[in-house]
Amino acid sequence: MYLVLLFLLWALIFSMLVCVSIINKSHIRNRGRVVQLILLATFTLSCYMFFILVPPEYPVLALFASGLYFLSIDWLVIFLMVFTADYTHIRPLSRVPRYIVSLLAAADSVSFLVNTVTHHMFEVEHRTADDSVTQYWEVLLKKPYFFHRAFVFLLVTYILCILAYRLVKVPLMYKRKYGMILFQTAAVAVVNILCTVLKAKFDYSVVLYATLAMSICYFVLFASPRGLLRRIHSTIIKDSVIGLFAYDNDGKCIGVNKVAEEMFAGEAEITKIAELYLSEWKEEYQENGQNVIGTERTIVKNGQKIHLYVTYQQFLDEKDRILGYCFQFENRTEIVRKYKEEQYRATHDALTGLWSRSAFEEEVKRILAEAEEPYCMVCSNIKDFKMVNELYGIDEGDRLLAAQANMIRRNERGNSASTRIFADRFCTLMPRSHFDEKQFSENMAKTLELGLSSPFKLHFYLGVYDIEDVNEPVWTMYDKAMMAIDSVRGNYDKFVCYYREEMLQNILDEKDVLGVFDKALEERQFIMFLQPQIASSGTLVGAEALVRWMHPEKGIVGPEVFIPILEKAGLIHKLDLYMWESAAKKLEEWKKLGRDDLSISVNISTKDFFFLNIGEIFRDLSQKYDFDIKKLKLEITESALMDNVREILNTLDGLQSQGYDIEIDDFGSGYSSLGLLKDINADILKIDMIFLQETKNEERSTTILKNIIAMSKELGMPVITEGVETKKQADFLAQAGCDMFQGYFFAKPMSVERFEKQYFQQG
Ligand code: C2E
Ligand code: CA
Ligand code: CA
Repeated sequence: MYLVLLFLLWALIFSMLVCVSIINKSHIRNRGRVVQLILLATFTLSCYMFFILVPPEYPVLALFASGLYFLSIDWLVIFLMVFTADYTHIRPLSRVPRYIVSLLAAADSVSFLVNTVTHHMFEVEHRTADDSVTQYWEVLLKKPYFFHRAFVFLLVTYILCILAYRLVKVPLMYKRKYGMILFQTAAVAVVNILCTVLKAKFDYSVVLYATLAMSICYFVLFASPRGLLRRIHSTIIKDSVIGLFAYDNDGKCIGVNKVAEEMFAGEAEITKIAELYLSEWKEEYQENGQNVIGTERTIVKNGQKIHLYVTYQQFLDEKDRILGYCFQFENRTEIVRKYKEEQYRATHDALTGLWSRSAFEEEVKRILAEAEEPYCMVCSNIKDFKMVNELYGIDEGDRLLAAQANMIRRNERGNSASTRIFADRFCTLMPRSHFDEKQFSENMAKTLELGLSSPFKLHFYLGVYDIEDVNEPVWTMYDKAMMAIDSVRGNYDKFVCYYREEMLQNILDEKDVLGVFDKALEERQFIMFLQPQIASSGTLVGAEALVRWMHPEKGIVGPEVFIPILEKAGLIHKLDLYMWESAAKKLEEWKKLGRDDLSISVNISTKDFFFLNIGEIFRDLSQKYDFDIKKLKLEITESALMDNVREILNTLDGLQSQGYDIEIDDFGSGYSSLGLLKDINADILKIDMIFLQETKNEERSTTILKNIIAMSKELGMPVITEGVETKKQADFLAQAGCDMFQGYFFAKPMSVERFEKQYFQQG
């Protein structure tokens, strides 16, 4: 027995030290308390072991060792009390009783130590048991010892009470946590009493100190209410937004949560559906050998698509035997919906619902890569759309654009794609065979008509590019369709234009012109040509100044090549300024030569009104050069007068009050010619050459011409007709009352030198 106990004590001491090291590594809350408690228990056990190992010839040592053992029990119980308070969350003794307890324990400890000498608490005697083998120290207790015992039992009772109170209060699943410690503490006390009463050779309760300490260690470290965890799991599963099917190893459905039930609820029993699901799944994925597989699935419920992310899982034991299976269904319908919405927003124009530009580019590439027939790119642009926004507001403008987008979408045939480039600029890719110019134009016109709640008439342009090389960059295709539009922009009779190679050439020309314009102007490559103007009497009255470019490489270049480019680039005023000054200078020269009877007409471009203060410029010219103001005539085309009329009219008034004569150029070629005459008090009317051109309706032309001349006379305006090419025309015009002529019949535009040579010598 002695050896067994000795071995047991060794083992327990060792185990407790292991416990301490485990606890030290853990992160539990009351780690310090537990460690102290276990170390104290280890000390108590060590003291006891020391005591029973003391040889018979050292009774004093035995007395000392057992004194240590007894006093360590005091402290062990006190530490147990502190730990219990912590463990049960019940406040330990208040301050005064705590001091009293500590004081008593200290006194008790001193008393035990002194007992080694005084023997007032107990004595020890070495004995040999009846078996004559077992040797032991018998402790002969004296009365004062029982104070110690009463003190210890009081504390133990207190501990038991706390634990019992807690045990009653806590829910069932926590009872074990307190019950086990309560039971073991009580067991220590009971065994201790029994050992004393039965006069046992050893105090066996010492073993229970160790087991108590170790179960405390277990409860603090590892024990968790398993029921709780199960309950939490099941609640989570029950309330989860994830659907679950659970199966045993035979594939029998053992559980379906509410969500899964709702997801798959149908006419068939849910467990049957679940089992079917598993068998189908196994067929598809079993050979794959993975324990967890996730994949997307779509099911239809009440006619609505539900997007699921399905995770299949098989549970194996340590020997890879199947324990069961489980399916998780995550409903991703909302995520998919949001994703699609996001994707739609990223790839579509918010206003019109057409493709965004980048998405359009991708679509075009995709469509053309698969194209089996010729395709074309159609661009549309509304004329003066800005005005819609200004006159009717942005909302109305937006409505119109949405209507146009709808029209375009409705008319998409075959594999097509459309986008809004920006503002009112739309672009569509469609098979060439589906593009019906007439139909498209009609639809477009109708949309624009209906789109506005007013009689305001909108025009539009269509540019069409027939795609030849499907690998051409998408935006080059678009540029080409836009180039076609640019070539008809400003026209009132032509709205649809197809791209031709020359257009690209024109654009390149444009670059050629603009790149060298400033230098050319500086180097005086632009020069003034003069085209004579002849009175009906046959005398020379003056000339129109027409510009020519003496290009160092290309030779003489006519204004039709570069004037539209300069106008578009906003540079024409530079050239005009130069021309006006040349004319003024020439008039001064002529005056000096005594030819102040001759006039020069200069052209004023519409754009000049935006860039220049024309009134001031002509005032400066008349001051700088000495010429008769009446001899510098200013030609303004009637189309210039159609935009921004008020401002231009004011400028013209100013010029007239300085003494300049204003000529309306190209009269009859534009729209509201007659209306204009009402507003502008022009000095001279210059009739456009279209009335002289040969047509089937020559009679009508001559009637109109005659009447224009008559009307102009009545308004007191001299008339000049340009483009006179034949004697017949000249005669007719003279008869009709035209005052002056200009045209090839008399002379083509010529250099100033030639002009002077030809007319001055004659004169
Ligand atoms: P425009 O002002 O109508 O000038 C008359 C044009 O008709 C001139 O063309 C002239 O050469 C041409 N012409 C004259 N008689 C006849 C004829 O009997 N038959 C035909 N078929 N044509 C005739 P040009 O010089 O090529 O000028 C073209 C246009 O360029 C001018 O039309 C004018 O608008 C513009 N332009 C010319 N020089 C200048 C300038 O210095 N400044 C501005 N802003 N525009 C200019
Ligand atoms: Ca002119
Ligand atoms: Ca003209």
